[in-house]
Amino acid sequence: MSAPVDLSVHLSDPAATDALPARVALEAARRRTFAIISHPDAGKTTLTEKLLLYGGAIHLAGSVKARRAARHATSDWMKLEQERGISVTSSVLQFDWQGYKVNLLDTPGHADFSEDTYRTLIAADSAVMLLDNRKGVEERTRQLFEVCHKRRTPIFTFVNKCDRAGEDPLKLLDDVEKDLGITCAPVTWPIVDGDKFVGVYDRLTQHVLLFERGEHHGSQQLATIEGGLDAPEIAEHCSPYALDRLREDLELLDVGLGQFDPEAFRAGQLSPTFFGSALTNFGVEPFLREFVQLAPGPGPRDTTKGPIAPETTGFAGFVFKIQANMDPKHRDRMAFVRVVSGRYAAGMETTLTRTGKTLRLSAPQSVMARERQAIDEAWPGDVVGIVDKGTLRIGDTLLEVAPKDPPQFSDIPRFPPEHFVRVLSADPMRRKQLDTGLKQLSEEGAAQVFFAEADAKLGSGPSPIVGAIGQLQFDVMMFRLESEYGAPAKLESLGYGNPRWVTGDRKEIERVGSVHGRILLYDIKGNPMILFSDRWAMRSALDKETKVEWHESAP
Ligand code: GDP
Repeated sequence: MSAPVDLSVHLSDPAATDALPARVALEAARRRTFAIISHPDAGKTTLTEKLLLYGGAIHLAGSVKARRAARHATSDWMKLEQERGISVTSSVLQFDWQGYKVNLLDTPGHADFSEDTYRTLIAADSAVMLLDNRKGVEERTRQLFEVCHKRRTPIFTFVNKCDRAGEDPLKLLDDVEKDLGITCAPVTWPIVDGDKFVGVYDRLTQHVLLFERGEHHGSQQLATIEGGLDAPEIAEHCSPYALDRLREDLELLDVGLGQFDPEAFRAGQLSPTFFGSALTNFGVEPFLREFVQLAPGPGPRDTTKGPIAPETTGFAGFVFKIQANMDPKHRDRMAFVRVVSGRYAAGMETTLTRTGKTLRLSAPQSVMARERQAIDEAWPGDVVGIVDKGTLRIGDTLLEVAPKDPPQFSDIPRFPPEHFVRVLSADPMRRKQLDTGLKQLSEEGAAQVFFAEADAKLGSGPSPIVGAIGQLQFDVMMFRLESEYGAPAKLESLGYGNPRWVTGDRKEIERVGSVHGRILLYDIKGNPMILFSDRWAMRSALDKETKVEWHESAP
């Protein structure tokens, strides 16, 4: 590994310069930045609310949804959200927990699933995989897991809905392992008395936690009785039968799984696993307690010149998401920046390394559930929104101290689209506006543009093709093309998908791409890519066509 890039700052006040490294290190060390990955309905919204409840960010769980409703119709954007009854945007929620600053990056889940969802994971330092105790790993869980796993992001598992009978916990964890190839290491284990979920055992502290179900239906923090397995207060509140069963389970776990291995966890091979119920709050607090201890704080991030360590005093950050048109009066955009190192201060001057130009970050915003609030400073691990007039792009690097030939963050991948449409201008006179809009959206990362011919460009030739990860991206695209660029569009589904990029001899690529059941496209950089009528056709082409090389993402 190459040496860390040094971007230290020197302030005019020597005392402040001396104090800065310690402050940056301290703030970085107490950040925990994570995202929840799950399939719709596993309970992500409910768990998010309960984490905020325990973090003291809200007093009565349920208010996240209520606020969401109250915020409707504040912009064009919201109108679309209102029509669809979903949230288009994602945001970051920050709360305090026992001296830690926890940043929960919201990943849109339902129909609003998009490339942004994947990219948000890049800004996180760890992920919590939330599973329904009856369903285990589902389609969307698997997709999101893969993104984290490839990047070696440490992953926690939270088995939810334990207030009702589900799959046998050991069987469930075994299924996860078979499906995803990750070993689940139970940190907490459910205690079931009769047929009731009454508490969890924490294998790290070796404490039993029994929860008292109040009259408040999960809207308040739970009263908890805590003690060792043999403590009298535990025996008083739990049947001997349930405790015996727990002892048996624990023996099985000790034999089967041995000790928790932090190295394997940090490498993304072992998942600390928790059981609970977001609805009744059971197991939420023990999860948080262990989570802040086990989860990694912000680490170094790779650049073209070597890693940048969080403790570096000069601010460095990267743009991982751009969201347009949040305020219809200004037509501005919000660029979401993950702080990698140093202190981000209001009004600070930075260098945008792509252009070499100076960018004054006059209005850093914290974006809490889409409500903006100006903030004075942010630290490594934090995510801030910058109001942008179209200067920033996804993957951009911002530096407070920019050496000659400055480093650039290198790891913002594009993700292969899953759906493809041809974009036709509903009004032939507006083709130019349509192309301008598509160009802008493609730069923003809101859509990926492709062409049916090599060397084609926006603005001429046949209609462009757009790829997206979720269907909603197309709706948003149509809405924005019309409202922002005055270019109403019609979409025509291609009926092909499962893209694979190809490299090799040009003639050979054209031959491979002309076979029935395939179509050959070119991405905006001119790289050839083939789409297939179905997954099976793609698999068989990869097996048979060995004269070209296949790639899952753009080479
Ligand atoms: P999301 O789609 O993942 O955000 O899921 P929600 O949080 O909206 O929850 C989906 C459904 O599952 C709702 O009806 C919740 O009330 C329910 N739910 C969430 N957590 C639990 C839980 O711990 N136990 C039970 N029984 N239901 C839950």
